[in-house]
Amino acid sequence: MITPLKRYEFSHTIKNLTKMRAAFVCSNPSCRLMTIGPSDVDDEKFLYNGKIAHIYPASVGGPRDLSGITPEQRMHQDNALFLCGSCADLIDKNNGIDFPVSRLKKWKANHMGWVTKNLNKQLSGDAGIVINVKDSQVVGTQHNYYTNDVVSQADSIDKTTFLKLDEIADEEKLMGIFRSLKDYHRIWSSQEDILDAVIEYLKQTRNKFLAEEIALATSKFLIELEELTKIITSYFDSWPYTQHGPDYKSELMPKVRHWTGFKADSEEKQQCEEISAKLIELDKTIIPAYQTFRMAVKRRLYV
Ligand SMILES: [Zn+2]
Repeated sequence: MITPLKRYEFSHTIKNLTKMRAAFVCSNPSCRLMTIGPSDVDDEKFLYNGKIAHIYPASVGGPRDLSGITPEQRMHQDNALFLCGSCADLIDKNNGIDFPVSRLKKWKANHMGWVTKNLNKQLSGDAGIVINVKDSQVVGTQHNYYTNDVVSQADSIDKTTFLKLDEIADEEKLMGIFRSLKDYHRIWSSQEDILDAVIEYLKQTRNKFLAEEIALATSKFLIELEELTKIITSYFDSWPYTQHGPDYKSELMPKVRHWTGFKADSEEKQQCEEISAKLIELDKTIIPAYQTFRMAVKRRLYV
């Protein structure tokens, strides 16, 4: 018979101390859920979704275990991290490889600093509390909402990025470019410059995003954009070649399209049709990728 490994749990005193020192707010800096609040239906009840997680595991061989950790260290207050239920589950996935001890210790130290900084202050402005919607066990922002004027530190970085990107190309501008490429197989040089600037910008900023949801959406959108510009560079050309002015129009294989009236049964025509089909396919993926990216940023900004 296998004897279950002994778990070194925290005492009630340490559990209480940990949640109060954390102000009942999840210590994951990109989460920061408020984990306690009144029940909507019963005046004598409250909802609580907090957990006291172990940085080094409660038992031998658990997530992030190291040899040489003593039972006293496992049960010590220094080893207790206050998290919401979802984040507590998340950090132990894959036996904790995604959330090493160093990272969790940093969360704890930073969270203590954040609580101290906000002690005796009104929770408004940049305090960054996210109110948990009851029953939600999902990490992320989809099931949370932000109080009207509250933007966390993480969000202010996303906000700067988003606003800057909107200056380069807002939704209308980008969708206009995608549409023109798909329907008319043409792009203006000023629009090409916009696509290049967006790519350059996303490349520079994607590592600064604090929310994993946004980082993921950014890299997906970036892949699609790079694919699109590869097609433009390889198969689009300006026509007629005497176009004047700083903004000139490029088209998909203009020689084939214009000189043959697109009737000739040539190899070039076939290639042209293939690329056109490719653009239509790409349009089906680039727009959702862009919308996911945009929604991810918007959700965190409450805009
Ligand atoms: Zn959390």
